[in-house]
Amino acid sequence: MKSAPKYALAVLSRLAGAGFEARLVGGCVRDLLLGRRPGDWDVASSARPEEVLALFPRAIPTGIAHGTVTVRLGGGKVEVTSFRSEGAYSDHRRPDSVSFTGSLHGDLARRDFTVNAMAMDAQGRIDDPFGGRRDLNKRLIRCVGAPEERFSEDALRLFRALRFSAQLGFEIEGETKRALAACAGFAAALSPERVRDELLKTLRSPRPETAWELVSLGLLDAFLKKGGTEQVSLSGVPQYARLCRFCLALELSGRIESTEGFLRALRLDSASVSDNAAAVRILLSEKRDMKRILRDHGEAAARLALPGDRRLRETLRSGECWEISGLAIGGEELLELGFKGPELGAALRELLERVIDRPEENSRERLLELAGEMRKRG
Ligand code: ATP
Ligand code: MG
Repeated sequence: MKSAPKYALAVLSRLAGAGFEARLVGGCVRDLLLGRRPGDWDVASSARPEEVLALFPRAIPTGIAHGTVTVRLGGGKVEVTSFRSEGAYSDHRRPDSVSFTGSLHGDLARRDFTVNAMAMDAQGRIDDPFGGRRDLNKRLIRCVGAPEERFSEDALRLFRALRFSAQLGFEIEGETKRALAACAGFAAALSPERVRDELLKTLRSPRPETAWELVSLGLLDAFLKKGGTEQVSLSGVPQYARLCRFCLALELSGRIESTEGFLRALRLDSASVSDNAAAVRILLSEKRDMKRILRDHGEAAARLALPGDRRLRETLRSGECWEISGLAIGGEELLELGFKGPELGAALRELLERVIDRPEENSRERLLELAGEMRKRG
């Protein structure tokens, strides 16, 4: 088993030294037991947020409403959260109230899956009240407690179940799986940003095909039209290029009107929306000429649509011109020759069209000559 870094252990011992209970919890314990490198270090403690702040003067109250304080120590960052117990959930998204009066057991009980509901002390001793280690060995994602209840409390867990199964390569335990189908409708309560983050993590995982399960279970229904879906393979596609293949298949199946509208609804940043939408247009178009693809859709979209494509790589490496800004002359020179307004833009486009087929003509002298001829021609 890998062990926790010194700074995380130091946080545990400072809390323990002050008389508080403190354990590593959640994903970092799971990942240590799996021999994976944890992404972040979470500590749960009986200390209340203000007590954590008093013990670690450089700590930052990052999520004080949830009882989370970020402690920086010895070059590392640890999130310390007070043992929590949660009130009722009435909106499928968040508890109506949170109190910091819990116990370690109570804190583990509110966690989503058995493999995420273990705690570890500084000596590496594990608290595992829900059979997390058994499920790690069986490679199973199983809810802590009654699955339908847990999914009803917080619909994000629907996505998390599938996302962890995709990231870890685990199956979803039978009862949890049945509850996923039964509770899929709760997903409509989630904000698009949270759905987006889970969808992207699922697509980037070693099992990207799980994204199709999100579709077939109905977890994305708030963003899709009704109907069947042609599920194309995504695992052979590099991570960064999977989203556009996913969107292309949804578009071809009639599940979305446009990639642009779909990704906008999911609140992707505007550059990703336009690059992916353009990449889908490339995949839908008949055009095969690489420089014209680049000219019409841009380099970012071409890379998304044609990852690893040899002709794309060679074209980019050749340094040959495929966009107006790559021409050996620009608007200035054309102004001097007397071009103006729309005429000037049209002249630049015509020169580009020519240079795409005759890269050897992309010199200042030759382009000035050609522009002069165009001018005379009127
Ligand atoms: P990752 O590798 O993605 O960070 P993680 O398991 O650390 O995985 P986080 O989202 O960082 O996931 O959450 C940390 C821990 O908090 C989880 O392991 C789980 O115990 C608990 N948790 C997070 N989100 C929920 C939720 N929606 N419902 C219940 N418990 C949750
Ligand atoms: Mg985490």
